[in-house]
Amino acid sequence: MARIAYLTTIDFGPGELATLPAAVAELGLSRPLLISDRGIEASGLLARVAALLPEGTPRFLETPPNPTEAAVAAALEVWRAEGCDGAVALGGGSPIDLAKGVALLASHEGPLERYAAIYGGIERIGAVAPVIAIPTTAGTGAEVGRAALLTLSDGRKLGFISPQLIPRRAICDPELTLGLPPGLTAATGLDALSHCVETFLSPRVNPPAEAIGLDGAGRIWRNLERACAEGGDLAARGEVMMGALEGGLAFQKGLGAVHSLSHALGGLQDLKLHHGTLNAILMPLVVRFNVPVAGEKVARLKAAMGIDVAADLADELAGLNRRLGIPAGLGGLGVTADRFDWVVERALADHSHATNPRSATAEEYRGLLAAAMG
Ligand SMILES: [Zn+2]
Repeated sequence: MARIAYLTTIDFGPGELATLPAAVAELGLSRPLLISDRGIEASGLLARVAALLPEGTPRFLETPPNPTEAAVAAALEVWRAEGCDGAVALGGGSPIDLAKGVALLASHEGPLERYAAIYGGIERIGAVAPVIAIPTTAGTGAEVGRAALLTLSDGRKLGFISPQLIPRRAICDPELTLGLPPGLTAATGLDALSHCVETFLSPRVNPPAEAIGLDGAGRIWRNLERACAEGGDLAARGEVMMGALEGGLAFQKGLGAVHSLSHALGGLQDLKLHHGTLNAILMPLVVRFNVPVAGEKVARLKAAMGIDVAADLADELAGLNRRLGIPAGLGGLGVTADRFDWVVERALADHSHATNPRSATAEEYRGLLAAAMG
């Protein structure tokens, strides 16, 4: 059986940021809350967006790198005090996920935990206020994804999943990514590639998602190095952004062990590991683990990416990591083997675990982590 849902209206292309006032009007928002972070403010992008919104539009700029329950509560306070009726989320995945959390709790009684996917929250999430998402990275796919990852006050990082949480409008303007430094361009772009690859290999039935994932993998594979080397190349930036959007559209089919492990590793509060960097490191190893059960899909993936049919896909992915300067392993990021049991326990409980094509045991997860140490 298949559940297939494509719900976001997307305005895509250089200069499309100018459509923001029309989007606000079409969604009937009279008092949106602009949600972003201090880095976006410092980059000057916040001012460009604020100039397109009514003067005095309230703002919440204290989004942490991994959005927390406390930040959702703080933004909700501004929302209520200002009488907001929707959100404009500007940034990478974090402000967009935070906006989803705020829109949820603006119309649903707390605590936030009730709505976590692993506690049956999917059934409890009804209609929420509209969110307009404006990504400033080409990676997470949060602008069209139905999930928000939020960290509860006790440190648990949980997935909140519902079609209701999908932003009503996405404005994808590659000009907003021109200033993204090479390291972040690489890490976010490889996150997007992992969405396309994992979705395509996931065993659920959703042929449109597979077709979108294949197209996205090809665009990212062909253009990511150029977008990193020539940050001002708008055409390459646009191709990677389209690939990232496609990854976000596709991953409703389910991700896999790259993400179950990276979500778990991302919960190591003291290390503050970057989601995209983790996925980049893990992807070659998980692909190698999955190849024995992936059948003809491996050849289809290579064909879509323009990789020689005789080449080893995992080796090719590892080679791209090296060329883009991705850290060689988790060890260099501060991960130690004594954390493996904690990480494996969480990976097994993660919502992406069940949709890896080859069901990983605790022992196999430990093996993948050991191999990823570098
Ligand atoms: Zn991801």
